[in-house]
Amino acid sequence: MSAPLFEIAILARATWNLHSLNNEGTVGNVSEPRTVVLADGRKSDAVSGEMLKHIHAQNLWLTALDKSIFCESCRVLQPQRADKSADLDDIAKKTKGDAARILDAALEGCAMCDLHGFLRTKPSIPRSSTIEFGWAVALPEHFHRDHHIHARHVVEGRGVERNSVSEDGEEAGGAAAQMVYHRPTRSGQYALVSVFQPWRIGLNEVVYRYAEVDRLVRFRIGIEAYKALFTRTDGAMTSTHLPHTEGIEGIVVISNSNFPAPAPSPLSESYREDVVAAQRVLTGIESVSFDSLPQLLGVLDEMAKREPFTLELPKEGRRK
Ligand SMILES: [Zn+2]
Repeated sequence: MSAPLFEIAILARATWNLHSLNNEGTVGNVSEPRTVVLADGRKSDAVSGEMLKHIHAQNLWLTALDKSIFCESCRVLQPQRADKSADLDDIAKKTKGDAARILDAALEGCAMCDLHGFLRTKPSIPRSSTIEFGWAVALPEHFHRDHHIHARHVVEGRGVERNSVSEDGEEAGGAAAQMVYHRPTRSGQYALVSVFQPWRIGLNEVVYRYAEVDRLVRFRIGIEAYKALFTRTDGAMTSTHLPHTEGIEGIVVISNSNFPAPAPSPLSESYREDVVAAQRVLTGIESVSFDSLPQLLGVLDEMAKREPFTLELPKEGRRK
């Protein structure tokens, strides 16, 4: 039997063509792509960690067969409202704002709140996410950007509005352009980093005790949501800019003792070698490389057969 999983880091390079997954916003009729600046001053194209985390949360909801494992807000995919739960308000009233008991109830009542975190006010109870994402950053030497003109037309004489794509704003049949707008299209190889902390699933971090939750089930749905996220690239503007995903390669790093998993950035050419080098000087670190989506899915399936790490904790109520 393999050792339980303390922490998992997924480090990858994904090739996405002709996408518009994440934009800064729209000024006038021009949408601007996300731009980030790296340590050496070079600018690159990027997709935010917020976007990736949101997609993981969506997939967590989608792939969970039993939606009763979520609170009222998360059941209808509105985790931002989870802090408004009436049940939690009741418990807050009954316990005179006992933060530990409110957090127990929140963790026990919802797999999404437990895995993805929340921020509750009155009393203030932050729950930081067990699943973390960095920006997906294009390798500075391997990305391209273009702006394409799109036009929305009204077909003359029929008053029928429809979308079409045209470089010159004209369409066969004499249709008149009603609105012209510019959409970025980007292609590149993107470095992705994500860390999952199975040891924190169900952990009440007000008093450092595990709440009464099925940690194994939650761990497995967390892994399943990663599989869904990598299987089909999602994000903004996918109705007309669905990415042409060409490939994914990387390394899954596992820590099986209470020590963080090393997570060197795939921006560096040597990221996989760096993990293997770190493995030699650290104990309890394992890693598996992958060069395709099926291989990554296989690695994640193997991980789902293992158990989340349970931390040895001081006696209950230490901080009461
Ligand atoms: Zn929830």
